[in-house]
Amino acid sequence: MDRREFLKTAGAASGAAALAACGGNVGGSIAGLDPMGHHTDEVPIGKMTYRTNPNTNDKVSILGYGMMRLPNRQLDPSSDQRPTPAEEIDQEQVNRLVRYALDHGVNYFDTSPAYSRGYSETATGIALKASGYDRSKYYIATKLSNFSPAQWSHEEGVKIFQNSLKFLQTDYIDYLLLHAIGGGGMDTLHKRFLDNGVLDYLLEQREKGVIRNLGFSYHGDVTCFDYLLSKHDEYKWDFVQIQLNYVDWYLAREMNPNNTDAEYLYNELDKRDIPAVIMEPLLGGRLSKMPDHVVATLKQRRPDDSVASWAFRYAGTKPRVLTVLSGMTYMEHLQDNIRSYSPLQPLTQEEQDWLENEVARLYYSYPTIPCTNCQYCMPCPYGINIPAIFDHYNRCVNQGTMPESAQAANFREARRRFLISYERTVPRERQADHCIGCRQCVSHCPQNIRIPEQLRRIDGFIEKLKQGTLTSAENIE
Ligand code: SF4
Ligand code: SF4
Repeated sequence: MDRREFLKTAGAASGAAALAACGGNVGGSIAGLDPMGHHTDEVPIGKMTYRTNPNTNDKVSILGYGMMRLPNRQLDPSSDQRPTPAEEIDQEQVNRLVRYALDHGVNYFDTSPAYSRGYSETATGIALKASGYDRSKYYIATKLSNFSPAQWSHEEGVKIFQNSLKFLQTDYIDYLLLHAIGGGGMDTLHKRFLDNGVLDYLLEQREKGVIRNLGFSYHGDVTCFDYLLSKHDEYKWDFVQIQLNYVDWYLAREMNPNNTDAEYLYNELDKRDIPAVIMEPLLGGRLSKMPDHVVATLKQRRPDDSVASWAFRYAGTKPRVLTVLSGMTYMEHLQDNIRSYSPLQPLTQEEQDWLENEVARLYYSYPTIPCTNCQYCMPCPYGINIPAIFDHYNRCVNQGTMPESAQAANFREARRRFLISYERTVPRERQADHCIGCRQCVSHCPQNIRIPEQLRRIDGFIEKLKQGTLTSAENIE
């Protein structure tokens, strides 16, 4: 079946499912949810599921806290004083979230020198200290994030690692990762870690106990993943971090030939008994903000469960998984995820198959752009707000408000809504039509999105909208 045919088939199936499911829930109230759909149940304490790391016997909570989207303070609009990036982080709120997570059994905190404009490690260190928990009660994961060629020397690599210890206020790191190997292929892997002796240095630190577990996170060129695993006998990876969720299990490569199916990645680790740390269980939040017809399908099976809980239960069910990372900015997300894992109710094989096949294909029947809003592509030297443009587009697709064709009955209204909201969310000089196609952003994108091509596609779509010449095919390709 070609892609267009598949989209049509999946689309038809989705419509039927949505209709069937909507009939049952419209206007109804569900136990444990307030009228806005937020959970009101208590958040369990002492019920968290733990997995054992076979190398160190660490009992790691299946929910890991990703410290990449830390809450920011509301700025005083009347003040013309811009705070520094460090001050922009709402440290009190970070402290509160971290303490709450620890109190509810979360003990794995994953940060990087690259997160939160370079301040995540500092904020994480402060929050963990302020929690009052003994250092032995939680695990810190951080990364060697030497992305810029200016950081590829041995000295710079050592400096980044030493700074991590300092910023995190600790004298050892529980889980240290070579960050995002795969971007730039084997050549970049050699320059970042192999030829400059940085990996040898990290192996020495593991020998000394300054690093307790050494691993890598992977995005991009699968040759790098395969190469590092082929050296497992020599490097003895303690864990590997991969992207895994139910839509990427079989379809990651079909939807983007530069990506690798999670099934392959997971099975390669499983074969070698290497624990897997999971990132993007929600595909950058997109599996919690699903199109209405997919939500209806999920709600039909378990009306009381949040949409996100399916994705968390899915990732946690795989037995080789050590922990599932979630970047939780708000207390309600943290609480919802704690509920999903306190304790984990594993999915049945039938439920896993259903998510990996039927629900995943239903999801892809609406072609969103796989942007996770990680901001690695920013700033664009020409001022384009790449994630905001993709977010606007995806939101319209997910809400089912995309204008379809100039002939559609609701075209004028849908066009008006799309354009007004685009103008409001992305300032004019930062919109897609200002992209000059320099491609400087492309290598930074861990999702391998062909950013300039997508921007050109969105710009072309908007032009046709404005001129009233849109045809139905242009929404899909
Ligand atoms: S290709 Fe476009 S979006 Fe990317 S850096 Fe260049 S101008 Fe910015
Ligand atoms: S386009 Fe890529 S790099 Fe930029 S925010 Fe989205 S996922 Fe991140």
